[in-house]
Amino acid sequence: MSRTILHLDLDTFFVSVERLLDSRLKQRPILVGGVSDRGVVAACSYETRSFGVHSGMPMRMAKELCPEAVIIKGNAGVYSKHSDVITDIIKEKVPLFEKASIDEFYADLSGMDKFFGSYKYASELRRTITKETGLPISFGLSVNKVVSKVATGEAKPNNQLKIDYGFEKPFLAPLSIKKIPMIGDKTYLTLRNLGIKQVQTLQEMPKEMLYTVLGKNGLTIWDRASGVDTTPVIPFCERKSISTERTFDRDTTDVQKLRTLLIAMTENLAYQLRRGEKLTACVAVKLRYSDFQTVSKQLKIPYTSADHILIEKVLGLFKQLYNRRMLVRLIGIRFSHLVHGNYQINLFEDSEEAINLYQALDKIRQRYGDKSVLRAAGMGARTIGRMHNPFNGQPPTILAHRKQ
Ligand SMILES: [Mg+2]
Repeated sequence: MSRTILHLDLDTFFVSVERLLDSRLKQRPILVGGVSDRGVVAACSYETRSFGVHSGMPMRMAKELCPEAVIIKGNAGVYSKHSDVITDIIKEKVPLFEKASIDEFYADLSGMDKFFGSYKYASELRRTITKETGLPISFGLSVNKVVSKVATGEAKPNNQLKIDYGFEKPFLAPLSIKKIPMIGDKTYLTLRNLGIKQVQTLQEMPKEMLYTVLGKNGLTIWDRASGVDTTPVIPFCERKSISTERTFDRDTTDVQKLRTLLIAMTENLAYQLRRGEKLTACVAVKLRYSDFQTVSKQLKIPYTSADHILIEKVLGLFKQLYNRRMLVRLIGIRFSHLVHGNYQINLFEDSEEAINLYQALDKIRQRYGDKSVLRAAGMGARTIGRMHNPFNGQPPTILAHRKQ
C-alpha cells in the first residue's frame, strides 16, 4: 500500500518571526545572525538571495554583498516559542508527526484519503497555521519523505505542491542534483566533476556506477533520485531524550566535586547532541540523597547544543536542588525535547570564532575519543562513560549505577 507523507517547512523562519514582531521589516532585505563583524548569518530573507547571500556565510561578507540589508541579532528563545506554538497546532490536527527541526515537520497522512482527501486536509492545516501564527509556511505532499521535502522546496515561498502517485520520477528529473537531500557541497562537486548536473542523469545511470563513485551513500542517492524512499515518519515525543547519571561509591557532600562532575557530564552530553546534529529544549537535573530521597527539577530553554549555555543551566538547577546539606548518592542529567538542528542557531551573541572553536574541539573528539579535550572545570571527574553515538538508532544507554 502506498503512503501519503506530508512535509511542512516554515519559510525563512527566523526572518518571518522578526517581521511578525516588527512589520516595518516586511519586504526589506534582512539578515539574522551574529551582529558583530565576526558574526555568521543564521537566516536571510529572499530579498538578499539575489545578492548571493546565504546562511552560514560570515556576516561581514553578507553586509558587503547586500549593504542595504537590515541586520538583526537573532533570539533563539523567541524562535523556540514560536516553534512550540506551531508544534502544538500540528499535534492537535495530525495523529502521527515528526518534528524534524525547529521549523520543519513530517506527517504521515496515509489512509486519510477515504475520509478527507489528504491534500485538502494538508491545505487546511497550512491555512490554520498561517492564520493562527501569522507565519508563512509551505508544504509538499507525496508518497515519501524525500519527494515531499523536495516538493516543499519547489513550492516555496508560501505555497504548496502535491506530487501524484507514480509521478515522482518525472517530477525530480529536470531538477538540479543539489535539490536531493543528502547531496551536500562535497558530493555535489564530485558529481559535477563527472558532468552530472540534473537528477535525470542520475536516474539513467546504472546504480552500480554511483556505488563505485560514492560508496554506500551512492546507493541511497540513486534511490532518492528515482523517487524511492522508505524511511518512516518518526513520531515526535516530548520525552525523546539523552541522559547520564552517576551513583557514587561513597556518598559525598563535596559540592565542588559534584559541580565538576556535572560540568563534565554536561560537556559530554552536549557533544553527543552536536554529533547527532540535535538540539535540546529541556534540561533536567536529578539528585538522590543518601536517605534515598530523590529530587529533580527541569527547565525549558531555547533550543541549543552549546556547552556554555547548557552548563550554566545545569549548575543553576543543581544549586536550586541541593539544599539539604546531606550526603549525595547519585546525580543525573537529562536533555529532552530533542530536534534536529545545527548549533549555530544560538551563537548569535558570539561569532565565527565560537563556532570554529566548537567545530575544532568536536573534530578532536571524533578523532581521539570524546574525552580527549575537556573543559578545565570538568577535569576533576575521572569517568563519565558513554563512548557511542546515541543517535544511531539505538536507545540511549542509561549509565545507572556506574561507579566513580
Ligand atoms: Mg524552513
